[in-house]
Amino acid sequence: MNFSKEIISWYTKNKRDLPWRNTSNPYYIWISEVILQQTRVNQGIAYYEKFIENFPDVFSLARANEDKVLRVWQGLGYYSRARNMHAAAKQIVKEYKGNFPISYEDIIALKGIGDYTAAAIASIAYNKAHAVVDGNVYRVLSRYYNIETPIDTSKGKKEFYALANEILDKQKPGVFNQALMELGAMVCTPKNPQCSNCCIQQTCYAYNNSVQESLPVKLKKLKIKKRYFFYFLINSKNKIVIHKRTEKDIWQGLYDLPLIELQNEISIEEAILQFKKTILNSKQTFTIKSASQRHTHKLSHQTIESYFINIELKDFENFYHSKYQIIYKERIGEFAFPILIANYLMLITRK
Ligand code: SF4
Repeated sequence: MNFSKEIISWYTKNKRDLPWRNTSNPYYIWISEVILQQTRVNQGIAYYEKFIENFPDVFSLARANEDKVLRVWQGLGYYSRARNMHAAAKQIVKEYKGNFPISYEDIIALKGIGDYTAAAIASIAYNKAHAVVDGNVYRVLSRYYNIETPIDTSKGKKEFYALANEILDKQKPGVFNQALMELGAMVCTPKNPQCSNCCIQQTCYAYNNSVQESLPVKLKKLKIKKRYFFYFLINSKNKIVIHKRTEKDIWQGLYDLPLIELQNEISIEEAILQFKKTILNSKQTFTIKSASQRHTHKLSHQTIESYFINIELKDFENFYHSKYQIIYKERIGEFAFPILIANYLMLITRK
């Protein structure tokens, strides 16, 4: 059986009609690949279209201010992806006069672009022979060839990368790469792969030996860190207080609200006492308008247990902190907030 022929033929007949599949524009392919790195295709389509509408080319992305880029990205998570794309767009304008670089080496030298994205752009946009290895490819290859080397080790990464390049169709690398990824996404799924509909079933080791569920092998179990966030929405008349997250942490560059963060859970009353001590000063009096139930927000490596406490101050006369900004409520839409905060603000400002 010719592996490449089989998967390309299957792909040609069965591929999903996705907006970035009808172009060889490297800018569009880049945007789609970055969005899809941590995002499901269904959710990714709307973001891709919104991103292209706001930044139709590399110049418009390079020119935009960071707040706007993050606002368009709002809700997708992994905000470093958007910051890196913004920086890379500036790099392309400066170093390549806005023309997307063509060689793999030049593409991978752009900010935030790794092996996977560089290979995807080089092969799909320019038909260059570079194999892509994403989660789908690891799954198909480990099952098909019965490779038990853990995929989250450097030995595993090297082995899969070498194999993917060895079997790559050098005449049609872009189509081959997309076919292999699509097969992993649509047929050779993590749970219950549809082996009976698979075009390479006959020669697949995992299928013939019923070991689909035990491949690919992963060594490390992801450690999830728990954090407790007590957010304070400080209102006075038609203004609220916001804060820009500048630290190297989740949501860097986005805005949130004055926060008390803890490693352990405390009661809302204790959190309010800490708020009085650390965020307000002794002259300020306030009333509590509402306090939310605990809301669990899951990120890939962290679980955020969050509370929102809505506080009314008489005025902002004695309120001064260099790290906070006081804004009119109607300006909320101008700032990029993590979706957790954006949802709360939408709820509270609608009331
Ligand atoms: S036969 Fe099953 S396990 Fe093998 S590649 Fe196809 S879907 Fe995956």
